[in-house]
Amino acid sequence: MDSYKYRPEPYRIKMVEPLVIPTRAQREEAIKRAGYNTFLLSSEDVYIDLLTDSGTNAMSDNQWAGLMLGDEAYAGSKNFKHLEEAVRDLYGFKYVVPTHQGRGAENILSKIMIKPGDIVPGNMYFTTTRAHQELAGATFRDVIVDEAHDPDNEHPFKGNVDLNKLQALIDEVGPERIPYVCMAVTVNMAGGQPVSMENLRAVRELTSRYGIKVMFDATRCAENACFIKHREPGYKDKGIREILREMFSYGDGCTMSGKKDGIVNIGGFLAMNDHELYQKATALVVVYEGMPSYGGMAGRDMEGLARGLYEAADYGYLAHRLDQVKYLGDRLIEAGIPVVRPIGGHAVFLNARKFYPHIPQDQFPAQMLAAQIYIESGVRSMERGIVSAGRDEHGNNRHPKLELVRLTIPRRVYTYAHLDVVVDGVKAAWENRNNVKGLRFVYEPPVLRFFTSRFEPIE
Ligand SMILES: *Cc1c(COP(=O)(O)O)cnc(C)c1O
Repeated sequence: MDSYKYRPEPYRIKMVEPLVIPTRAQREEAIKRAGYNTFLLSSEDVYIDLLTDSGTNAMSDNQWAGLMLGDEAYAGSKNFKHLEEAVRDLYGFKYVVPTHQGRGAENILSKIMIKPGDIVPGNMYFTTTRAHQELAGATFRDVIVDEAHDPDNEHPFKGNVDLNKLQALIDEVGPERIPYVCMAVTVNMAGGQPVSMENLRAVRELTSRYGIKVMFDATRCAENACFIKHREPGYKDKGIREILREMFSYGDGCTMSGKKDGIVNIGGFLAMNDHELYQKATALVVVYEGMPSYGGMAGRDMEGLARGLYEAADYGYLAHRLDQVKYLGDRLIEAGIPVVRPIGGHAVFLNARKFYPHIPQDQFPAQMLAAQIYIESGVRSMERGIVSAGRDEHGNNRHPKLELVRLTIPRRVYTYAHLDVVVDGVKAAWENRNNVKGLRFVYEPPVLRFFTSRFEPIE
């Protein structure tokens, strides 16, 4: 591929969705109406939507064809069997419980594995994952390597667990209070950073000495596998499927949001090897989701997901995806814009602390930066900083080291030309950075506040 300026798309476009570019006056009005929260913008007011890679994927012709083969039987749908076969084949887990999306699986996993007073270690928190752990009575403990909290550190596997931190936690609270280690591949909140195979192996070794389970957050496992292939000695010549199977051999099960590396618009599942755990999960899935053979998804959606899991494990697709994200990151770095390094798998993260050193974290610099990028360009991004981190058990704001804005790339949706527009929008926000002030809350909901809170500028 060296003869190309950048790795070209390994697909062609056969259906298009027209976009409208709102004027600057319309954008200023829209962000005010949205309470300076990009989650509250109407999709119609957005030109390029980099809010999330969740459920925003373009499905393939093969997936759309699969939708027509939906078996909508209330029980025993054949599409469920296809999904189960895909998960067994690609990930190696025996039992599959479909859910409406990732958090449905997190809800069930937390309820069947956690008892009040437990501690769940993880390689950095994720919003919905931690919320379900806490609702089940557990406390989350971050055991990710220190490098993950440093946006400028170039460590190739910033998603790794710090084994000393994990050992210290086991010594401190005792293994009986740790139901499982939550292992995210890749780590969204650290910037889409991968975990190395060596680290997965070491975590398995350490936890198995104490009988502690390892449950993966497999949401972006295919992207993680591609990073292992590109960066880890000994994996260059291995196939993505082989790498995925090895990764998951170091765990007992996973939760999965099909909306990311499943390349569908909705869906997810919980998977595991232990039969007793599976029975507990099926007992709950009928309460919260649906029959164990559809669990919140239509038959057609399970078919799309089964096919998407295979497509996501294709190296040609993955290499293009990671390159496209890196293209955006590299153009921003060239322009002197502060971003988290190395560039992650699904998104480029802007370091809002360096954009607005004059805005204290309690005045939500990243929230304001996302609003400014929208005003400049019609590009929608999202805050990943103090607002997303929420409040602790005493009601105080958590102050994460990383105060970031995420530019998330949907799978197979935008072209390099779109990404050039994004670069120009971020550059315009950077040039105007000294004129920007902070925000204060106008409305703040009690949990997962970043979704619906509203703000106004501090004059
Ligand atoms: C999106 C996501 C989830 C939750 O999945 P949903 O499908 O949005 O419910 C869990 N973990 C990670 C890392 C995610 O990115």
